[in-house]
Amino acid sequence: MQEYISQAISGAKITAKGYAVADKNAKFTPYKFTRHALGERDILMEILFAGICHSDIHNARSEWGEGIYPMVPGHEIAGRVIAVGSKVSKFKVGDYAGVGCMVNSCGECEACKASNEQFCQNTIYTYNCKDCFHGGEPTYGGYSDNLVVSEDFAVTVPQNAPLDKVAPLLCAGITTYSPLKFSKVSAGKKVGVAGFGGLGVMAVKYALKMGAEVFVFARNKNKEQDALKLGVKALYTTDKLSEVKERFDLIISTIPTAYEPMDYVRLLGYGGEFCVVGLPPAEVMPQIAINSLVFAGHRRVYGSIIGGMKETQEMLDFSLAHGIYPETEIITAGKIDEAYEKLTTGKAKFRYVIDIKKSKF
Ligand SMILES: [Zn+2]
Ligand SMILES: [Zn+2]
Repeated sequence: MQEYISQAISGAKITAKGYAVADKNAKFTPYKFTRHALGERDILMEILFAGICHSDIHNARSEWGEGIYPMVPGHEIAGRVIAVGSKVSKFKVGDYAGVGCMVNSCGECEACKASNEQFCQNTIYTYNCKDCFHGGEPTYGGYSDNLVVSEDFAVTVPQNAPLDKVAPLLCAGITTYSPLKFSKVSAGKKVGVAGFGGLGVMAVKYALKMGAEVFVFARNKNKEQDALKLGVKALYTTDKLSEVKERFDLIISTIPTAYEPMDYVRLLGYGGEFCVVGLPPAEVMPQIAINSLVFAGHRRVYGSIIGGMKETQEMLDFSLAHGIYPETEIITAGKIDEAYEKLTTGKAKFRYVIDIKKSKF
């Protein structure tokens, strides 16, 4: 780390070590690269934990469009600040910090001014993105040993927080927290969560803590006991949706595969909302026929992607205050391919988190 700190102080580019895929069919291998020099409002973090998100797999395999290679994925990052730029005010060396899906935005547009940086026209994603604020250099994510990021795109993490659990909150947490807030979920609201994987579980935990009555839709009953233990009222299997009697204020779809969206829209009460956060691969992308929306009448459909930085900090504080964390399994970076395999074949029980310190690069 001393080498990185010296580079940061001297204004040089920061060298980094990570794991990358060379193309969409490649396995992960160690990869050395550089990050831009520490700007006056940037922090340099030593990465301690990096979560593996399903979208990492889609990106690494170019399932959402051609990726930028070599690609170092990872947008669920927790670590320790080891150097700060001269005008940084939020962090000092030794603080813990978290970084999610974005590392920069224009800061000037309506979206940015409202702290909806995720809707800026120039959002810079943490990896697989050309950084127009740094000469168009590609961004590299958290499967690596350091990160340079604007302090505005890092959240503060208290010293006693479990960093391995904080990391996945920065994508899975905010992705589900944000629509629950946008749809004003509160005590007595009826919320359905479609898909009960990593994202679905987080949506359930937040909705319950916000006082909602929560129901789960899943492919089978395998996780029914897990759901009931959390406090879910019932788990319905997706082959019997037409038999569901409940009518919902909000249904959040975290489903990452093919499905029929209108099956869920029909389960909404008057004025109810169907929010999509899960992103299936392009070739099986669900479609909605607009005539079916007309006949569904006064039901809203919207999408949501992560959340703004102010809300991300709020989500983290809320999660820590209420002990809401994803279930995680710690691995080393050498096991990323294995983790991807388990995630794509549905064999992963928990969210994989890479222990960067224990990994060899
Ligand atoms: Zn993610
Ligand atoms: Zn902007």
